[in-house]
This record gives sequence, C-alpha cells and structure tokens, in this order.
Amino acid sequence: MNYHILTLFPEMVMDGLNTSIIGRAVEKGLISIEAINIRDYSKDKHNHVDDAPYGGGAGMVMQPGPVCDSYEDLCRKIGKRPRVLYMTPQGQTFNQSIAEELAKEEDLVFLCGHYEGIDERALELIVTDYLSVGDYVLTGGELPAMVMIDCISRLVPGVLNNDVSAEIESFHDNLLEYPQYTRPEVYEGKKVPEVLLSGHHKNIETWRRQQSIKRTLERRPDLLADANLSKKEKQYLAELLAEQESKCE
Ligand code: SAM
Repeated sequence: MNYHILTLFPEMVMDGLNTSIIGRAVEKGLISIEAINIRDYSKDKHNHVDDAPYGGGAGMVMQPGPVCDSYEDLCRKIGKRPRVLYMTPQGQTFNQSIAEELAKEEDLVFLCGHYEGIDERALELIVTDYLSVGDYVLTGGELPAMVMIDCISRLVPGVLNNDVSAEIESFHDNLLEYPQYTRPEVYEGKKVPEVLLSGHHKNIETWRRQQSIKRTLERRPDLLADANLSKKEKQYLAELLAEQESKCE
C-alpha cells in the first residue's frame, strides 16, 4: 500500500506516522508514506496557496491550481491516477468497513484541506471520495488522514504480527470486542473471570462472544441490527433484552 498525502504541513503527517507499528511497517516495506507539499506547486512569488473567498466572508480558501498540479505531478510520476480522498467534515463518516474496502487499493491519495477549505473546482476535478472523521470541525485534514492511514494500515497483511487480531477486534461482525485481561490474576481485589483461567477453549470462545454481544448492547446498540449472530447468540441477545426490559418496568 502506497499512501500519498497532499498537504501544507508535510512534517506533521510524517512525524506522526513514523513511530510504533506504522513506522515498523514502513521500515519493512509493507507500506510507503510520502507527504507532498502543496506549497511547492505555488506559482506565486511569495509561495501563497490561499486567497480570500469570492463573495466575501471569513478566512482564506486554498486555491485550485497548486492542489490540482500536485496531484497531476504525482500521477505522472507513478503512471496511474489513484483515488483521491478529501478529508472534510462534509464527507461520509469513516468506519471499519470503509477501511476494509480502501485497504484493497494499491495507492491512495489523501487530500488535506486547511483554513476554510479548498476551492470547489479543484475538488470537482480530482476528488473521488469525501471522508470525515466525525461531526466536528478541525483546523486541517492532516489528523483525519493520519487516523485513516493508521486504521487502513492495520489491515495490510503483515503489518500486525498476528493477522487474526485485526479480524476479531471491535466492529468485526458489527460487535464490540470482549473485555481483555492480563497478569496479575487479582488486582485491587478484582479477579480475572474464572473461565479465562480454565484453559477450556470452547468455553472461552463462547464467553467472549457473549461478552461482545452484552457490551455492544450496552454501549453501541445501533450496531446490533447488522450484527452477524448465530441462532444461539440471537437467543442470548433476546434474553439480555428481556432482562433489560424487566429492569425498566
Ligand atoms: N469550511 C469547512 C466547512 O465548514 O465544511 C471546514 C474547513 S476546516 C476548518 C479545514 C480543513 O480541515 C478541511 O478542509 C478538512 O480538510 C479538514 N477537516 C476539518 N474537520 C474535519 C473532519 N471532521 N473530518 C475530516 N476533515 C476535516
């Protein structure tokens, strides 16, 4: 997977992405990350890339020329026209299934806006996907790009030591993950659930699935409508719901 980030702050994304698991994945050549400075494509003698909005109003708008030129130059260099993901609060909210779909691409371009955003004509010309990290407004698209790159990279084969761990985490099967425990067996008087010490794999698996269902019902009931549950698990959920209802009465 090759990530190309179009930004006015290349050091911000490069510094943020070169540590821990993602940094090691870059070292191993499993992913590559390059930040392209949109300012390098300014034709202005002071290197300006923004101007006041037509029609008036607060703030500055990034001009279309440097944005489109930086993308076209990249396409010439790599000999293809990858998808361009524009980081914007106006986009579809990023989630695990979007990450799974994007992880299948060979190259991805992340376009980071700043100030009041980017001239609409540049977006119409090059953007293929409009993605948001949530219903709030940030100062720039760099943090959203880093969030998405981190998430997508975990799905690239070899990036996590154990590929299974990416599969059974939260949002797999539309469920949240079960609670996790490690040593010591007793902490501040709180004991690790007995079943996890039993060594009985089948019982552990059943307990974990039930905990996932319980936790999802408590914290993110909206996910359950599309959860992938067996007949027995549906029955377990029905019992939990009945219990919940009886408590409310
Ligand atoms: N004027 C824009 C609007 O109201 O939609 C917001 C511009 S914001 C201050 C500057 C840049 O930050 C945007 O161009 C975008 O790249 C990025 N940004 C801000 N919030 C974001 C979010 N929730 N998700 C993704 N990108 C965001």
